[in-house]
Amino acid sequence: MSNIAFIGLGQMGKPMASNLIKKGHSLNVYDINKTAISEVQSLGAHSSISPKEAVKGCEFIITMLPNGKLVENVIFGKDGIIHSMDKNSLIIDMSTIHPLESDSLRNRLAEYNIEFMDAPVGRTSDNAIAGTLLILAGGTPSQIERSSPILLCMGSEIINAGGPGKGIRVKLINNFMSISLNALSAEAATLCEALELPLDIAIEVMKGTPAIKSHFTTTWANKVLQNDLTPAFMIELAHKDLGIATDVANQLHVPLSMGAAALEIYNQARAMGRGKQDWTAILEQARINSGLKK
Ligand code: NAD
Repeated sequence: MSNIAFIGLGQMGKPMASNLIKKGHSLNVYDINKTAISEVQSLGAHSSISPKEAVKGCEFIITMLPNGKLVENVIFGKDGIIHSMDKNSLIIDMSTIHPLESDSLRNRLAEYNIEFMDAPVGRTSDNAIAGTLLILAGGTPSQIERSSPILLCMGSEIINAGGPGKGIRVKLINNFMSISLNALSAEAATLCEALELPLDIAIEVMKGTPAIKSHFTTTWANKVLQNDLTPAFMIELAHKDLGIATDVANQLHVPLSMGAAALEIYNQARAMGRGKQDWTAILEQARINSGLKK
């Protein structure tokens, strides 16, 4: 069992710290919110008056904070952990922060010979309570091996994201996709309501199509990801169907911002001579637009 400092006892941090305690680890906890501290204290955690105090004698230091500036302050600030931590302990930042901030923290700590890994989490606060978070580990193989017994007290699955800084980057991709899909889903549901169509019927239909199953695992797998752009469904037909949807929405006074942006993307692909290609060629067009493919 390990001595762990846990900093940031919010919606996520509190249940994560609680699960570590339940699994028998000894926890020093710190949060600017004293109520949060006393709730975890009642489970057996030792309360601390600063990050600097919390990390004394701890082998692992976990931060679960709202943003990168706060993580930086907890590490390097006046009462920061850098002033009293054991140089052999491992800092595990589980917050969702900007990858460049995470890189900067890792590089600054390396100057003190202190190890830092990023291990943000996927899923929700319900999963934090149940101990079933998805942990996106960005670290060296030895850091991941060393931290795994701790991480598995908070999550049910660890993804080795491929090296230092890669955990926070795969988290960024995941959030980009799911946050954008939330907005697109809201447009689909609103159009559905304007068409006086029950949402559960639309969901039943979309459950069997890429709309809900995702392109990554359906349409792309045997087409663009295999460099095959021969059409299973042509760009110009997709363009026509999206045009019908946006036209109907327009008549019903339903704004479709995401839909309009997507129509423009198909417009562009058509203009670039991709009309007869498979609709997954949208990926190729995006790569060209980004300079990733010449
Ligand atoms: P939260 O706001 O509920 O909790 C943050 C905690 O940090 C609070 O208790 C706050 O008092 C504390 N805090 C703020 N400044 C501090 C400081 N200087 N020193 C010590 N403690 C400080 O946020 P959350 O929902 O627990 O999210 C934490 C992180 O996890 C965020 O980076 C978030 O993006 C990420 N995340 C959240 C979810 C979710 O569903 N809530 C899911 C995945 C990832």
